[in-house]
Parts: sequence; C-alpha cells; structure tokens
Amino acid sequence: MGRILLIGGIHGDEYSSISILFKWMDILNEHHSGLFHWHVLPLANPDGLLRETSQRQNENGVDLNRNFPSADWDELALEYWVERTGRNDRRFPGTWPASEPEVAWLVQHIASFQPDIIVSVHAPYHLVDYDGPPEAPEKLGDLYLSKLGVYPGSLGNYAGIDLNTPVVTIELPYAGIMPDNSHIDRMWTDLVAWLRTELSKRG
Ligand SMILES: [Zn+2]
Repeated sequence: MGRILLIGGIHGDEYSSISILFKWMDILNEHHSGLFHWHVLPLANPDGLLRETSQRQNENGVDLNRNFPSADWDELALEYWVERTGRNDRRFPGTWPASEPEVAWLVQHIASFQPDIIVSVHAPYHLVDYDGPPEAPEKLGDLYLSKLGVYPGSLGNYAGIDLNTPVVTIELPYAGIMPDNSHIDRMWTDLVAWLRTELSKRG
C-alpha cells in the first residue's frame, strides 16, 4: 500500500524514542503483513546518544530537527534561533541548511526512497503532531493530536510542507521512561490502522 519511513532518535537524549523503535521492529518481525514497505532508522543521531552525556544535538552541537533545508530556512532559521530561543544551544539550527551529515543523509534518503508517509518519534510532549496534507491521526494509543506549529528547518516543515509528504511526529510521554508494553502495542496498532485508512484513500 505504500512506503513508510520510520525514524527515531533525531534528538540523542530522547532515549525512549530510540528504544521503542526496536520494540516496534520486533512486532514487525513477527507480524509483517506485507502491506507496507518499511524503512526504519532507529537512531538518526548516534553521536548525540553515544557520548558520555547524551545530548539533543549532534556532535557539532546542531539541533538536527532545525537543520532540514525547508524553504524558509535562509530567511528564518537563524533569526528564529536568536530571537525566539535566545540563542539556546539546544535549538541551534546550524550555519547553513543541511550542513549536518545526518540531515544530508536523510534528505538524500527521502529523495531516493520516496516515502508516502514519514513517522518521526520524539519525547516528552505526550502528543501526536502532524505536518502535511490531510488527514492527521486523531490519536495513537493515549497520545492525542495537538499541532505544535511549524519551525524553520524541522523535518515536518521540510518534508510535510515543502515536499508534501505527510510527517507524523509521535511525542512519547517521557524521554527516560518507556511506555508500558500495552501502550507500545496500542500505539503501533493505531498507527498501522491509520496508515491503512490514509493510504487506501490515495488508491
Ligand atoms: Zn525531539
């Protein structure tokens, strides 16, 4: 029915967003229906995770989810960082769009794989966010849809708005505590059900 790109760990200190992808890959290994062609990237920011103290940014101190080459990057990304975040290190978008190897790889991978839908997992805001063409999932497990708005250089902005490829952002409740097994299962079941519905509309 479609190609799905599933991404965890764009932020290296969001441990649950990485672990849950391994749980979901276990489910996929057991119950792969053949309906979807999955590409799974469980850890998009290995240098951020695998250092003495894990951090949100990559090794260069860049917030990868602000480094995607969205159309508004040149005009807004650095200005947003200075004026809206007060030069918060954790939100530094880099000095030019797609300057970081992790982002450059993802941009290239999105271009070659041509996913129908991208699912990106974060923590800890306990919600589902969505960028791109309708219809967003109203809920996945206990997480409800709540649109956070659009940031210059985010994956949702770049892929959802510029490329018209829907991006589902799953924000788990805690970065350091995994959801329990039943919630892990329910989020997965709801996600797969939503993917079936959404992709069947496109024929
Ligand atoms: Zn995050």
